[in-house]
Amino acid sequence: MLKLLKPNPAILHKPGPQVRQEIQACIGCNECLMACPALSEPITIDVLNRETISGEISESVAHFARECYQCGACVSPCPVGLHRDAMMLWLKVRLLRTGERRD
Ligand code: SF4
Ligand code: SF4
Repeated sequence: MLKLLKPNPAILHKPGPQVRQEIQACIGCNECLMACPALSEPITIDVLNRETISGEISESVAHFARECYQCGACVSPCPVGLHRDAMMLWLKVRLLRTGERRD
């Protein structure tokens, strides 16, 4: 009998505990945001980090999450090797789970 091969699903984002760990390791230097071509309004890294993992998501952070197109430009400037793109993907998931806000 023909056996259909099912490809392994792509890992689209890091699990929550790993994202949390990366955010705890963030030194708040802001390099990732300075390299981001999608950031259209000022956001502080503290607020972004906090709202990425818990609590209410403010309109400015929700807007940024929608604008992020996963280009990865924020990854190489990070002096401690963190993945802001993966954090943003996690934030997008949170946004969907909590009910997306509209500007
Ligand atoms: S992945 Fe998202 S947050 Fe990172 S630089 Fe690209 S648009 Fe900005
Ligand atoms: S570049 Fe890295 S350490 Fe600096 S704020 Fe962004 S994630 Fe945090």
